[in-house]
Amino acid sequence: MPLIDDFDGFLVDLDGVVWTGREPVPGSPEALATMLAAGKELVFVTNNPSRRPAEYAERLRGLGVEVGAERIVTAGITVARLAAAAAGPGGGALVLGFEPLHELVAGEGLRLVDFEAPTEAGVVVVSGWRDFAYAHLLAAKRALDAGAALVATSHDATMPMPGGEWPGTGAILAAVEVCSGKVAEIGGKPERHLFDLALSRIPGARRVAMIGDRLSSDIVGGHAAGLSTILVLSGTSGSDGGSEDPAAAAVTPDLTVANLAALVA
Ligand SMILES: [Mg+2]
Repeated sequence: MPLIDDFDGFLVDLDGVVWTGREPVPGSPEALATMLAAGKELVFVTNNPSRRPAEYAERLRGLGVEVGAERIVTAGITVARLAAAAAGPGGGALVLGFEPLHELVAGEGLRLVDFEAPTEAGVVVVSGWRDFAYAHLLAAKRALDAGAALVATSHDATMPMPGGEWPGTGAILAAVEVCSGKVAEIGGKPERHLFDLALSRIPGARRVAMIGDRLSSDIVGGHAAGLSTILVLSGTSGSDGGSEDPAAAAVTPDLTVANLAALVA
């Protein structure tokens, strides 16, 4: 009997589970299509807000996984809500991240602050960003020193990519936290916000499992949210260059499999 029969809903991480960079994890698209065909409720949950939910959904459909944008929940959505709560209506936000994150923050009613005028910010929002530079770090410090709140999508140290991991949000956030002395409130996994939002999208599912590749966010967060947890070894916890060691983890996943395909075999 396939392992998926124990559950009627799944929260599925994207990076390191469904794809690595732009390359699908072998067997994952077919496994997800099989899960949908079996009537399983899927919500994709990612700490990576570098794409819009509609873009992720389009990419999934291109791989044969038929889901709508409402089934994609990113830490960009939850961190934008935290930013709005911290800065208040019409408050200023200094955003270190890609354009889709700027849109989400603006969509919560915040005013985007220029890096030349950081002290206008009531909140600094940090996420993984390949354009990150010293000038952005300096602006963030200026804003935080002037009293801005600090929020971030995650503490994830790395990001699984073809050819080896890249520095993640946590690496940039560490720089911001060290130079400001502030500690960020986190919108993504392992904190509760993203899980609550994802579960609200599948209210009918009773037995839900979190499937992810990162112990410190997917498995720790899924466990804390009261879900069953399934670790896949196709990303950050795999033997193939992954930085998280399952043997050294504080939380043990309920199930560990090589990849998504093993769940439907
Ligand atoms: Mg991942």
